Amino acid sequence: MPSLQDKIALVTGGSRGIGRSIAIALADEGAHVAITYRSAASSAEEVLKTIRAKGRKASGHQSDARQFDEAQKVVDAVVKEFGRLDVLVNNAGITKDTLLMRMTEQDWDDVIDTNLKSAFAFSKAGCRPMMGQREGRIINISSIAGVIGNAGQTNYAASKAGLIGITKTLAKELASRNIQVNAVAPGFVDTDMTEKLNPQQKEALMNIIPLKRTAKPEEIASVVVFLASPASSYMTGQVLCVDGGIVM
Ligand code: NAP
Repeated sequence: MPSLQDKIALVTGGSRGIGRSIAIALADEGAHVAITYRSAASSAEEVLKTIRAKGRKASGHQSDARQFDEAQKVVDAVVKEFGRLDVLVNNAGITKDTLLMRMTEQDWDDVIDTNLKSAFAFSKAGCRPMMGQREGRIINISSIAGVIGNAGQTNYAASKAGLIGITKTLAKELASRNIQVNAVAPGFVDTDMTEKLNPQQKEALMNIIPLKRTAKPEEIASVVVFLASPASSYMTGQVLCVDGGIVM
């Protein structure tokens, strides 16, 4: 039997990139999947169609991760539709890169609210049904920038380091309810987010990645599936760097 047969998963930012791959990979393992997205309705629809074609249920929620109250509404809708919530993946994220001296308050607020505050809001809303069920998995998509820092990403690295803090704290708070909380810290993954890098930046990257290549979104999704599945039943509070060997 697939490892996530009939589990209910919610992936924030599931319309594109890593979130899209995570949603599809969870469905491949038997889960029914809800996704959120900000504005890419047609991309979200394609993901939902792909999941339904696998015989799994899927639901899409247009919801701005920066709005605190939205998280509760989405979780309520998912629980109403599917009856429970087993796996929450806090994936929605953006970059607004620039050097500190040029970074505006808006750049800071947008990135912190989208990447970090949303994980607080969704975890707060999502852990309630999990507590009632006495089981659940929360998986936060951090970044190696939150582990080792990255010039030009003060806001982003702070948000991703914050996610590691949330992961370890909730792992301790929720362990007694059998809710496991872990993080994945990807390196450089082929998505719209990294497409903006210029050829010089891409060449510089190759010099710091021992495996000498960027990741496919599926290579992050497979680790998320592991953290959602019984195979990781004794893991909580961990940060798995999936980065071709950059952080070691
Ligand atoms: P992406 O291709 O740009 O996709 C971002 C996703 O997040 C989209 O589904 C987008 O929805 C959603 N999103 C953005 N802002 C949102 C908001 N305000 N409300 C709701 N949804 C929102 O990015 P990605 O590369 O897949 O990144 C996914 C996660 O992995 C992020 O947390 C990112 O920080 C992390 N990560 C990425 C890399 C990398 O190299 N790509 C490395 C480390 C960590 P719309 O489609 O509607 O815009």
